Amino acid sequence: MTLRCSKCQRGWVTAEDARAKALFFAPGRSWDCPTVSCDGFLVRSKARRSDRRLYQDALWAALNGLGFPEERACGLTEMKKLFQEHKVVGVVMDKHPTDSTKSRILGLRLSGGRMVHFAASAHGAVAYKVTEVPV
Ligand SMILES: [Zn+2]
Repeated sequence: MTLRCSKCQRGWVTAEDARAKALFFAPGRSWDCPTVSCDGFLVRSKARRSDRRLYQDALWAALNGLGFPEERACGLTEMKKLFQEHKVVGVVMDKHPTDSTKSRILGLRLSGGRMVHFAASAHGAVAYKVTEVPV
């Protein structure tokens, strides 16, 4: 099956079976485009040669905001290298939804057009994906 963005026209192909139907086409479910800075939504489409092929789990993770496989290399070695080679040029933050004395740091924009995304955990802020962003 192929899902294509209504706006940027990027497409992703994965195996079509009962599991795909359950993962991607539950009643009432829709998907935003996983491309950073695209506000399109995904529709079923025919596959094109340029479409990216992914295993169902990888596509499902990307569509749920966890990043594509190559964006998820956030180990200590990768993060040290990234922060040694690039400066922080911006912070993506928001107010805390229930506590005005707190704020949420969602990501750090780096020189060179990347953004490190963070999530909360009991062990501290976790870098979970690095995406390319327009500079
Ligand atoms: Zn898109």
